[in-house]
Parts: sequence; C-alpha cells; structure tokens
Amino acid sequence: MRAAWCVLALSVAAPLRAQPARTGAIDPPLSPRNASYTIRATLDPATRTITGTETIVWRNISSRAATDLQFHLYWNAWRDARSTFMRERALSGAPSDNPPRRSDEWGRIDISSIALTSPASGDLTASQRFIAPDDGNEHDRTVLSVPLVLPIEPGGSATIDIGWTAHVPRTIARTGAIGNYFFIAQWFPKVGVLQDEGWNCHQFHAATEFFADYGVYDVSLTVPTGWPLGATGVEREKRDNGNGTTTHRYHQDDVHDFAWTTSPDYLVRTATFEHPTLPAVDMRLLLQPEHDGQADRHFDATRATLKYYGEWYGPYPYGHITIVDPAWQSGAGGMEYPTLFTAGTRWLAPARVTTPESVTVHEAGHQFWYGVVGNNEFEHAWLDEGFNTFSTARAVSQVFDPNYLAVRYFGGFVPWVFRDIRISRETDGNRLTGYRRDAESDAQSTLSWRYFPATGGSITYNKTALWLNTMERWLGWPTLQRIMSTFFNAWAFKHPKPDDFFRTASGVAGSDLTWFFDQAQRSSNVFDYGIQDLKSERDGDRVRTTVVVRRYGEAVFPVEVLVTFENGDRVTERWDGRERWTMYVYERPSQALHAQVDPNRVLLLDVSPTNNSRTLRPQGRRAATKWSAKWLVWLEDYLLTWAALV
Ligand SMILES: [Zn+2]
Repeated sequence: MRAAWCVLALSVAAPLRAQPARTGAIDPPLSPRNASYTIRATLDPATRTITGTETIVWRNISSRAATDLQFHLYWNAWRDARSTFMRERALSGAPSDNPPRRSDEWGRIDISSIALTSPASGDLTASQRFIAPDDGNEHDRTVLSVPLVLPIEPGGSATIDIGWTAHVPRTIARTGAIGNYFFIAQWFPKVGVLQDEGWNCHQFHAATEFFADYGVYDVSLTVPTGWPLGATGVEREKRDNGNGTTTHRYHQDDVHDFAWTTSPDYLVRTATFEHPTLPAVDMRLLLQPEHDGQADRHFDATRATLKYYGEWYGPYPYGHITIVDPAWQSGAGGMEYPTLFTAGTRWLAPARVTTPESVTVHEAGHQFWYGVVGNNEFEHAWLDEGFNTFSTARAVSQVFDPNYLAVRYFGGFVPWVFRDIRISRETDGNRLTGYRRDAESDAQSTLSWRYFPATGGSITYNKTALWLNTMERWLGWPTLQRIMSTFFNAWAFKHPKPDDFFRTASGVAGSDLTWFFDQAQRSSNVFDYGIQDLKSERDGDRVRTTVVVRRYGEAVFPVEVLVTFENGDRVTERWDGRERWTMYVYERPSQALHAQVDPNRVLLLDVSPTNNSRTLRPQGRRAATKWSAKWLVWLEDYLLTWAALV
C-alpha cells in the first residue's frame, strides 16, 4: 500500500494541454476515442418522433474478447411503468406524474436494423435481445445484447450500423418535450463499456446516471427551419433542405456523450470567457424569452466555474460551451452533458439569492467532474457528484462572496449562503434532514445504483462534500487542492475507480489516509464526538475541573478539546479519539467556563454538532458559539437541497 502511493507521488501527470481550437476538433487526441459515432437524425415535432441512423466505430481496449455487443437504450425506461427506472422512481418518493401521462407521452426507442459491416457479419437484427444484468426485470428493455458471430479480440475493432426510431416522451428526468421545447439526451443506441471484467452496461436506474467511453461525435440533426438548436460540440455546417427543414451538423472530439435541444422560442446570446493563463472559451446561451434579462447571470456563473475549476484542477479543454435555459415546467432542471449543460429554471429568484448561480456553477462544473474525468456514474456517483458539490460550494463562496452574504467561518470557508440556509431551515421545520438523517442508510462504497433510492442523494452528494470539507480543514486547502488537481490530471479522459483517488490522496498528502477513507467512504459509521460532562468544584484554594469527552459514534477521528477558564486561561488537548471516552482533570486557581470538542470544526462530518460544547455559566463568547452550532445545523439542512441537483 505504502510503496504504491510513494511511487505515485513521484509521477504527477503533466497538466492538460490547452486546446484553443474552437471547431470541435482536437489534435493530438486527448482520449482513447474507442467509441465514435456518426449520427443522422430527424425530429418530427408534430408526432414527436426521431428517426435515426448511426455508425459506431468501436475498439476493444480491454484485455478480454467481446463475444457480444451491449447497448444502452435509455428511453425504454419510459416505455411503461414496469421498467426498473419507474419502479425505483416510485420507491424514491418522487411525485408521480401530474397530470398522469397519456399513452402518447411515454417514451421509447426501437431498433429497426443492426448490422456489423466490419468485420463483415451481415444483419444481426434478428439476434438482438434485451437483458437485465442488474435485477433480472424481464420488463426492462434498457440494455440490448447482440451476440457476435466471431469474437472481437483485444485491440480489434468493429463498425456497427444501426437504424432506429424513437418517441420523445413528455419531459421526464430532464429529457423530452413540452410544447415546442425539445431536450434530447440519452437518445441514441449507445455502446456499453467493455472492461477487463466484462461489459459494464447497467440498466437505467432512477437514482443514477451514465457511463460511456470517449470518442468522436459527428452528428447531423434535421429540425424545422428557423428553430435555434444547441448541441454538444460546434456547428460545422447548416443546410436548408428547402422543405421546411434545416440540417445542423455538429462535431466534437474526446467526449463520452452527445445531447441537443431545439425550440422556436430560444433567444441566442454569446459571450467569451477570458483569463490570463487559461484558454479562452466561447459561451453560447439558449435562453427562454421571459429570462432575457438573466443572460449575464448565466455567463457570470459560467465564467466563475471556468476560472476557479480551471485554476484549481486544470483548464477546460474544449474552447466552447453551450448553456441551456430549459423551458418553464419542462422538468428539465440543471443537468450536465459534454460541452453543454442546462441551468436552473426557478429564476423568479431575487438578485440576492444565489441558488440560480449555484445550479449554473454546479452544472458547468460537471464539465470537469464527469466530462473530463469520466468515472462510472452507475457505480461511483459520488466521484463526480460529490467532488462537484464540494467544488461548486467553494467556487460560489469565492466569487459571490462580496455581494451574496457568503460567510467565512473559523478561518476555513463555509460554502453555503446564509440566506439560502435560513430559507431551507424554515421550509424544513425541525425535521432531521440531509446527511444527518441518512448517515447510516448506505456505506458510500456500495455501488451507487444499489443505494436506497430515497436516501442515496445524501450519501452521494452531501457526505462526499462533508468529507472533502473535513479534509480541507484538516490537511489545508493547498494540500487538498494538490490532491484533487493531481487526480484530475492523472485521470482526465479515463475512467477512475475509488481506489485511484484514495491512492492519489495518500500519495500527495505524504501519509497513508486509508484509515480515514475506511470510515468515511467504506462504512456507514457515523462520527459524533461530544462533551458528556463539565464540572468545576472548589477544593481549598484550588478548583478541580473535570471534563468528560465521549465518542458517541462508531467512527474515529482525532479531535482537539478546548477548555476555557474564568480567568481567561485556555487549554487545548489533543485526543486520538479512539477510546469511547476520555477524561481531563485540572487543578487550577480558576473555575472552567466552557469545554468544546473539535473547536475549529475540522470534523464537518460530525452528525450532531450541538453536543460538542458545554458551558458552566453564561459569558460573552457563548452567544457566538451557540450561533455557530445552529449555523451548522442550517448548513447540514442546506446540504439536503444539493441532493436535488444532478
Ligand atoms: Zn451534479
């Protein structure tokens, strides 16, 4: 273990190369490009039908032969209520469709032809079959297997031609149509990821997202003439077909997905991101007409993301980005796709509320954690969602600090905006919410799609942000920043697994942090330190003070204990936190006023910060302490709202 991370510490990857080309082309390649797509698709808005053909050039970069090909057909999750997605959605407590879905408002995707043209194997349409590798649900049609006549050996390639038709659902899970607004994501037959262990091609689950290899996308989309269109990549050609339709051809190298949107209502705005050391980025915004005055808020939040994520982790490599403001009531809130993302819609918010900025920063931030670093979102969703939640909060607190009531706290940043926290608190009343409520629901190391759907968000988003915050307070931001940038650069355009991050963290920190990840990530144990007892008794001309500190939770973390005396003396103890309790006894001229465990709030994972201190008599400083404790309760409540982001 130790040897491995020492080696790693010596081989920090070179930073990503800046790529100023703004044509969607990148040379030399940044990624393996082993799953590339040439797609032609036509949208008929009247019938909400997409007709498409695609050629996939796939290369086997694993060490095992492929005896079949596996494809995601995500839209079949919305074919009817019997899919695994819809069953899990019901479990998650998500509200059912209102109004209920008419039969033509469900979605579907049907493959009409599939053929292997290289190595030539002819038409394989008849041999396609649905499989359900995760739960055996015979009604689930989100994964297709096509057996191969001849296996494709490691290093070998295949060229696959597929034809399909799809019905666009009424918006669900941020995809679909409402009125003349179309947001088209996870929409084409998409090859799974072949790994040394076999195909990684999960069914579509309600609480998890996606996983795919990197490649080149060249996509021609035919839509009504005059409808603005936004898509992954850069528009290279626009051809009026003379029949009321126009074909837009988009291109992007080194991405792992492709999404697009069109609507006659979009306003199109453009701006540029410039920075002294980072490459310039063209920003294109597709805006709902009623949000015309909000363009700068979108651009400013996107600039903040490109700046801070770029400075902390590495430059944004694509040279352009498209921001989509989804239609009101589209259900298409914030969501990330390569070089394109959707921002929030609840934009009646007054200027002082930073929620829209938070959503925009979060979704733009996924360009780094999801887009560049391509972890498996079915299995380790915390790697992108948790890292991005932490980073979002940090960026928002940096850039909007002067204007937006972000508060700094005990020398470390506090990532949440006070006003938002208060609103959240009022909304939630006194219910226990977020990570504190769900802390023991799942160990984070459980595969994400197996988390209990109703509480998985707290573990994926909140817990990761809390343990990264804890690492920042404990190791310092310079060290955590080096850990995260080293990981970012080493795993750009690759598929890291959790141990890759843990090895990087120990290597950069220069000490083995396995014990911390064993508790924070590999278990569902809770951290909870508290002051059990504080007593001062006069004994002659001395006062005997007794402080009892307890570890109420199973998880262990070294903590400080601060005891403050009436005469102003302060004593700081360092406890390794391993036993279930410890006691400190002082013989002093003065009685104790206050005892506090973890006075600097390093352990942000502590599930009940309100038991962290005891006071013998009121004093000036007490008010501040109590306020701080309440503030942390608000903070944790606020973390719950992040579970609503994706
Ligand atoms: Zn997210």
